[in-house]
Amino acid sequence: MPATPDPAHAKPSPTGESRPRIAIIGGGAAGFFAAINTAEKNPAVEITIFEAGHKPLQKVRISGGGRCNLTHHCFDPTRLVEFYPRGQRELKSLFARFQPKDTVKWFEQRGLKMKTEPDGRMFPRSDSSGEVLELFHALAKRHGIRIHNQSRVEGIQKTDTGFEISTAQAVDQFDLCVLATGYSPIGWELAKGLGHTILPPVPSLFPFTIHNAVLTDLQGIALTQAKGKLVVKGTHKTETFTAEGPVLITHTGLSGPLIYRLSAWGARALAESRYQATLTLDCLPTQSEDALRDTLQARFMHTDGKKKLGNISFPALPNRLWQALLLESGAHLEEKAELIGKKTLNRLVENVKRLPLQVTGKSPSKEEFVSCGGVALKEVDFKTLQSKRVPGLYFGGEILDIDGLTGGFNFQACWSAGWVISEALKDI
Ligand SMILES: Cc1cc2nc3c(=O)[nH]c(=O)nc-3n(C[C@H](O)[C@H](O)[C@H](O)COP(=O)(O)OP(=O)(O)OC[C@H]3O[C@@H](n4cnc5c(N)ncnc54)[C@H](O)[C@@H]3O)c2cc1C
Repeated sequence: MPATPDPAHAKPSPTGESRPRIAIIGGGAAGFFAAINTAEKNPAVEITIFEAGHKPLQKVRISGGGRCNLTHHCFDPTRLVEFYPRGQRELKSLFARFQPKDTVKWFEQRGLKMKTEPDGRMFPRSDSSGEVLELFHALAKRHGIRIHNQSRVEGIQKTDTGFEISTAQAVDQFDLCVLATGYSPIGWELAKGLGHTILPPVPSLFPFTIHNAVLTDLQGIALTQAKGKLVVKGTHKTETFTAEGPVLITHTGLSGPLIYRLSAWGARALAESRYQATLTLDCLPTQSEDALRDTLQARFMHTDGKKKLGNISFPALPNRLWQALLLESGAHLEEKAELIGKKTLNRLVENVKRLPLQVTGKSPSKEEFVSCGGVALKEVDFKTLQSKRVPGLYFGGEILDIDGLTGGFNFQACWSAGWVISEALKDI
């Protein structure tokens, strides 16, 4: 709470002639965006952000390696929702009202210029998350938004007239409450206390731990395009997930966009199986199995037949991985290529197209850490983001059971939710 006395705290009740009071719990991306937009549209309201940490917006500050990947250059809501393993249907209605094109416009109109990278990720042109923080703080100040740092909300009581918000320092009354506590067990507890169902949070977006001879000593090698099929055996059912994209070999297994996609879609099944799964990797999805066999046969039997197998490169794959696949298939690198047997050739084709790998765990992510789980979506009205159970209670951001892939999608879900909340609160 602020050290100076706050006249608003003297108000006996949130109702009556006073300005409507809105409590925003959580000073992150979603909370700030909801606060600023509500204040811009409705100067009559009094907004207070409660932030548990020393400073708000700390995840925005570290996001995108300090560059803040604000959104993604995908302006078609139908395509955009495909980047979200959970919440697609609900997000479609949010994106119909506020999508990446609107995000770009919003920031640019307020002086923050953006740029698009070749893979579609959009950043501040300054490459600095600091610029986003400066902008948010400046707008919050301009609109008189109160920010209470080090004010962890420990209790929310629904009263006849609104909400009673308790921190360790004070108890205060508000008309409306926005819960935007992100990935926070206490936030979910608060929502649960108000009658909401919480889907258990489990990690999403992480590299796989894989110990396999083929990958040993190959860390740093990347495949620009691969295809993966992940089979996860659960207690009651077996689930299969497929994805395409670049793959990076790490010292503990595999990472990269393809693996992040599989980890996101398979998040719940993987958590249930304690991160035990079978991954079949197609290292060369652009070639059919028959075309690959014909190409290799022609090289081994004719073009390079007299060369040692170990001296033949295969430009479609990184050389060290290619050599590892040859060895894994039982080929002798010192032998002439034309002596490769049919069985070995078939095994090689099999390993390039369907390399079997055992996933034995989850490695820590160096990029985004995102979880799936949170407030059950069916209990929230996505036209307003108001709770269907508690009138006057709103949800935004990661507290909801919504999560996206890496690439600016998670922030976009926060901006869209914050905007829709502000639309709901503009006329109160
Ligand atoms: C390292 C990293 C990098 C990332 N990079 C990107 C990126 O570049 N692009 C992208 O789209 N996504 C990125 N993400 C994901 C993105 O940061 C989150 O999806 C987003 O921050 C969620 O916003 P939020 O407002 O819901 O929650 P948060 O940003 O987590 O904010 C919630 C706030 O609520 C506060 N809080 C919690 N409980 C209480 C309480 N009881 N009382 C008061 N306050 C409370 C917390 O202290 C926190 O400040 C990244 C995540 C990580 C971890």
